[in-house]
Amino acid sequence: MATHPASSVAPPPFHADAAVHRALESRLRQSVRGEVRFDTASRALYATDSSNYRQVPIGIVCPRDTDDVVAAVAVCREFGAPVLSRGAGTSLAGQCCNVAVVLDFSRHCHGILAVDAARRQARVQPGVVLDRLRDEAERVGLTFGPDPATHRWCTLGGMIGNNSCGVHSVMSGKTDDNIDELDILTYDGVRMRVGATPPDALEARIREGGRVGEIYAGLARIRDRYGDLVRAQFPKIPRRVSGYNLDFLLPESGFNVARALVGSEGTCVTILEATARLVPSPPCRSLLLLGFADIYLAADAVGDVTAAGPIGLEGIDELLVRHSRKKNLNSKGLALLPDGQGWLYVEFGADTTAEAEAQATRLMARLESRPGAPSMRLFRDPVETQHVWAVRESALGATSFVPGEAKNWEGWEDAAVPPARLGEYLRRLRGLMGEFHYTGSLYGHFGQGCVHTRINFDLKSAEGIAAYRRFVEEASDLVVGLGGSISGEHGDGQSRGELLPRMYSEDLMQAFREFKGVWDPGNKMNPGKLVSPYRLDEHLRVQQYHPAEVRTHFAYPVEGSLADAAMRCVGVGKCRKTDGGAMCPSYMATGEEQHTTRGRARLLFEMLQGEVVTEGFRSEAVKDALDLCLSCKSCKSECPTGVDMAAYKAEFLAHYYEGRRRPLRSYAFGLINHWGAMAEYAPRLANFFMQTPPFSSAVKWALDVAPERRLPAFAARSFRREFLAGQKPEARSQTSEARSQKQEARSRKQEGPAPGADPLSPPASRLSPSAPSPQSRRVLLWPDCSNNYFHPEVARAAVAVLEHAGFAVDIPRERLCCGRPLYDHGMLTAAKRRLVEILENLRGEIEAGTPIVGLEPSCISVFRDEMLRFFPDDPLARRLSQQALFLTEFLVKTGTVPALGMQGRAVVHPHCHERASLCLDDDLVVLKATGLELTVLDAGCCGMAGAFGFERDHYDVSRAVGERVLLPAVREAPAETYIVTNGFSCREQITQLTGRRVWHVAEILEEGLARSHRGRGSRAVR
Ligand SMILES: Cc1cc2nc3c(=O)[nH]c(=O)nc-3n(C[C@H](O)[C@H](O)[C@H](O)COP(=O)(O)OP(=O)(O)OC[C@H]3O[C@@H](n4cnc5c(N)ncnc54)[C@H](O)[C@@H]3O)c2cc1C
Ligand code: SF4
Repeated sequence: MATHPASSVAPPPFHADAAVHRALESRLRQSVRGEVRFDTASRALYATDSSNYRQVPIGIVCPRDTDDVVAAVAVCREFGAPVLSRGAGTSLAGQCCNVAVVLDFSRHCHGILAVDAARRQARVQPGVVLDRLRDEAERVGLTFGPDPATHRWCTLGGMIGNNSCGVHSVMSGKTDDNIDELDILTYDGVRMRVGATPPDALEARIREGGRVGEIYAGLARIRDRYGDLVRAQFPKIPRRVSGYNLDFLLPESGFNVARALVGSEGTCVTILEATARLVPSPPCRSLLLLGFADIYLAADAVGDVTAAGPIGLEGIDELLVRHSRKKNLNSKGLALLPDGQGWLYVEFGADTTAEAEAQATRLMARLESRPGAPSMRLFRDPVETQHVWAVRESALGATSFVPGEAKNWEGWEDAAVPPARLGEYLRRLRGLMGEFHYTGSLYGHFGQGCVHTRINFDLKSAEGIAAYRRFVEEASDLVVGLGGSISGEHGDGQSRGELLPRMYSEDLMQAFREFKGVWDPGNKMNPGKLVSPYRLDEHLRVQQYHPAEVRTHFAYPVEGSLADAAMRCVGVGKCRKTDGGAMCPSYMATGEEQHTTRGRARLLFEMLQGEVVTEGFRSEAVKDALDLCLSCKSCKSECPTGVDMAAYKAEFLAHYYEGRRRPLRSYAFGLINHWGAMAEYAPRLANFFMQTPPFSSAVKWALDVAPERRLPAFAARSFRREFLAGQKPEARSQTSEARSQKQEARSRKQEGPAPGADPLSPPASRLSPSAPSPQSRRVLLWPDCSNNYFHPEVARAAVAVLEHAGFAVDIPRERLCCGRPLYDHGMLTAAKRRLVEILENLRGEIEAGTPIVGLEPSCISVFRDEMLRFFPDDPLARRLSQQALFLTEFLVKTGTVPALGMQGRAVVHPHCHERASLCLDDDLVVLKATGLELTVLDAGCCGMAGAFGFERDHYDVSRAVGERVLLPAVREAPAETYIVTNGFSCREQITQLTGRRVWHVAEILEEGLARSHRGRGSRAVR
């Protein structure tokens, strides 16, 4: 195929005068009831999507309803301002960023207006999240078929814009096959409902005249003039997504104007409402995994496997598996893959499990009888099935930032070929990548010939960008030569718009231009994307990025630098999900892009870039965006690219306050260890002032604490004082059995370990390879501030549990603090000092391998996370990070989990840092061994998050976060149910807002031990 020169037809520039922008903003404010945001931070937030491109918009409008959309477009028309519609902004080809007024439909326009089971249809607003629609449809046994990997947060409007597909497109086609009607608005203000148009209706509409008649006449002209070309040149493959859907204007497609508009990427009209087609959802599924010697052989087998009638057929290669392993992602799923270096996921659906499995076993039998049969595994366990699917679903994130490897980018993300030629395509694509010295994992929707890959393009240097251009041009020719489509699901946007002439003849390109012209003659709808496009190598985010040099407090060993950290977010948008998991609590509570992890990452990027956000670390906009980050660290584990916003927030605040006084509350909460130490001398006096009105109100006012909150009361005696005074904690001497257990433990302590025995292990235990190898069975219990000063009963319980397990418990002699509260306030110099003190004071213990057992997850996570950011190369710090274990981790690692026949139920709320940095599984192992029946909540953050929820300006968000799942679940739990959580903040949030007694796992174990000694399994109602 001939090489075409880069063709860029620049869209008409919008008047960049600041006065015009202000006037536009002001008119929008007058006309629209939703939010109108022209501030730099909001514009920075919407400057990119999930692609390589960045264009700063003119401003943002979040319309409240359809009337608002109509009003906003009218104002834009008055000013000649371009318009860009937006859902979740997860587009991968640059079609969702532009110099335009962005209409964010996801904020308010997300209603499901009707589900009609009889007609198998749903009417929705464009901002509805796909999974919300699917959940609603499932109630009547139906579903919306196409399911992109972003199904938990992408919107129907965005899917229609991009003509999205997914695993189940094998069963139900692309989005265009599943849209019946659209309510649309043109830039010039015409509103109409479009769909299939029988010939007489078409005639009537043309006769209507006016703008509507003109549009229909224009479309009919395109059909008549280019119909034969469309029939001849549009590839006949399941995944042709590139170009406009002119095939739906053909008589054999019913002149379906709605479907012709699917995939138009906001370049033609604004969608106000959609009537979506629903399909039956097979209630029972089975998953068969096939392992081949390589990905090419897997691709070759696609035709054979498709003949078995699967409802999903996906492929992954060995590089994806290697990258996932390197990033420690989905280890459970990886372990379940059958042998091989290239895999096919084959999903069957039926009315019964037996039928679905029978389809799978028939295919297995057929494949087995062939030479070179793949290895096979049929999954019957739903949890295992979920684990293996997670490997496929996290592919994009898993291949984005791989430690020690060059960064991978979109650019050649989703080309599709006829499935029968898939193996050939993959071999030749790999060869082409080799010629350019590129690597990239190959995976995707193999059943429909659509292949994903992120490639290590150099998008920074001029030579690198030139090579990128040459590669995508050659790859386009390869795909077109095989009869494929350069986009098979993500759309053309800017990455592919310029390449369309390689796929379509000039006549068809003219047809596309005419189609766009019919709807948007002034080129104001998402200009420069899909047709008459910007060049594929302009507006590149990486190329534009010239971050300021910053001396940072933390090291960024995984990311590279803070500037790299700010680049890490590739816009996947998982932080916009609201249906489960922990990331991101502030978005779940507010629904604002600014309060997503992605939004925060973008603002940090823009701050370092310094072009739109120009105040650097003094930026109030960035501070505001970070203000609602609860530092829960959920993003660190849940974000597919591992954005660690809690660390970046602490770093930002440290710079923001450099040379400035912090608010009083930072000193009050950040230095709680000091105040606790002072209160040890007169806890009653301290409590009097903190708990008794009017003093308590004055204290709260001075510290900016919400009046609704109760400040926690200091214990009459701190754990540390009690322990050092050699007092016997009450809980340790309840029964004669318990006494004899303790004596036994003490005598073991005096005797020391048996020669040659593993010093920490009790007789029958095994240390896992990552467990510390201490020189004695001594453990240091870490008396964190909350359990030391406020809840000594928890620490006491832990001593009882550890002693029962045969360990000799001690505590650090010095008053040490991990500094956890300091991070929330960016007091990093003080925080580092605390860690230096710990390393100096505990050097001997660390070197001796003494385990340090903690009770507060957020304190142990300091040793795992923040300490290694301060001292990445210090072997002592590294040792401490391995020796510091949460109580339950320690019990599991040392094989000393007590089996306690407790009766009853427990509602368990995992602390965010347990999920992110510690081992939540161990907690559950220990709790299961108690015998209690567990309900583990998927509630995410409790909302308290250290001092966050105490603070006046955070109270409402804190409460909203808690009220999402956790607090209602606690209120619903019967009075005799144990409520278990290990974080001080979680305990405060629950007790303050529900009045329920909350148990730390140490207390549960102590209670269980005491009960087993008393020989009773029942308990009193609480
Ligand atoms: C990790 C990852 C995995 C992905 N996996 C898949 C996949 O499996 N399959 C797939 O098809 N895609 C996939 N995508 C791409 C993307 O998620 C989908 O295309 C998704 O449907 C886009 O939805 P959105 O709400 O984010 O749309 P947006 O990005 O917000 O918008 C998409 C387009 O629609 C237009 N649009 C939005 N609303 C309207 C409206 N009201 N009127 C007119 N135009 C509108 C926009 O202007 C834009 O051009 C993936 C992306 C990521 C980051
Ligand atoms: S730390 Fe938690 S609250 Fe902050 S951005 Fe990450 S997920 Fe959101």
